[in-house]
Amino acid sequence: MPDWIAHILVAWTIGTILGFKFKQFNSANIALFIVGSLVPDIIKITMLFGYLGIGLSKFFIPLHTPIGSLIIATIFSFFFKEQRIALFFLIGGMFTHYMLDLLLFDINGGIYLLYPLSWNQYQLGLITNYDFNITVLSIIISFTVYLISNKIHKRQLLKHKT
Ligand SMILES: [Zn+2]
Repeated sequence: MPDWIAHILVAWTIGTILGFKFKQFNSANIALFIVGSLVPDIIKITMLFGYLGIGLSKFFIPLHTPIGSLIIATIFSFFFKEQRIALFFLIGGMFTHYMLDLLLFDINGGIYLLYPLSWNQYQLGLITNYDFNITVLSIIISFTVYLISNKIHKRQLLKHKT
């Protein structure tokens, strides 16, 4: 699992780029997109229990699977007035999470993409867990996108004025 910073930046960047084209990707929905990108790693909360000596991590493995995250995202979406839209953006964010995780080499064997149909694990193994290049790269890319989106916003403001 790349760190949360990478997950947040990748989701923000993809959401912002899609926002150039689709107005549905506004800041509120991009926020949902980011939350969605963190949903699969809710499993990390179990680490807190680990510190307390309670070994729950095995029990929570299904949460780091597409189906497990889908259930969590659906529960989250109940808290929103526009439930369908919320679910759409949460799932989109989740998708970016698994895309990024799939690139990883994981000693534990990768992601249980097909759980509960199969316990097969999948990974592309392109990056190691300790490789911070992915974080650095995501910072550089998201900063570039940030500058571009700033420019676009300024241009739109000028258009409104004239
Ligand atoms: Zn993950």
